[in-house]
Amino acid sequence: MKVKCLNCGEKVLDSSDSCPYCGEPLRWYQKKLPFSFLIMILGLFIFLMVVLFTVLSPSHPNSTEPDATLSEFSSVNIGMSYSDVRKTFDSYGELISQSELAGIKTEIYVWYGYLGANCNVTFQNGIAVGKAQVGLK
Ligand SMILES: [Zn+2]
Repeated sequence: MKVKCLNCGEKVLDSSDSCPYCGEPLRWYQKKLPFSFLIMILGLFIFLMVVLFTVLSPSHPNSTEPDATLSEFSSVNIGMSYSDVRKTFDSYGELISQSELAGIKTEIYVWYGYLGANCNVTFQNGIAVGKAQVGLK
């Protein structure tokens, strides 16, 4: 590709270091970008994407603060509404299963504790009908 010399205006190959007509050196932005430079830009772009993704994605269930403790789980009683259970855990939980059969809507919510511990509560038409937990402390 040819670019215009900034000094004399002649067309100069972008691979040359300076203008063959007047000797004016070509500026870096006039030259063909080296391949390594493009790789560097691409790498920087990917790095930024990864950082953004990490910052924006929700925290892992087993990270810092657990949603559920054993005492909270013990306070959940069959017959409670979803909003009662939500208040008990002080967390919305995660809807992991939802189905509807013969007019009965069944939903299973899970709340996470430390290190893989979790509990779930099964609701039918918004009322707790079952609960189970693994490893809560
Ligand atoms: Zn020139």
